[in-house]
Amino acid sequence: MQFKGLDTKNWQKLKKITKSKRCHICYYRLSKTGIFLYNKEKEDTTHIKCFNCLTVYNTSFGITDLGIPREVGHSWD
Ligand SMILES: [Zn+2]
Repeated sequence: MQFKGLDTKNWQKLKKITKSKRCHICYYRLSKTGIFLYNKEKEDTTHIKCFNCLTVYNTSFGITDLGIPREVGHSWD
């Protein structure tokens, strides 16, 4: 995997998030489970994915793709 051109504003933001935040869904630290998603068309890292539950976050730490909660304590209906 190549990391050429990775040092962008988006990447800086995402890096900050992985260092300080926990995943909303599985509560794992994103420093442990976060992986950067690279957008070939934009030639930039645009999102972080938590590989534990597959939730995807954007640079504002908003969820763009909901993951799979593994320990669900409530019913949603
Ligand atoms: Zn997660």
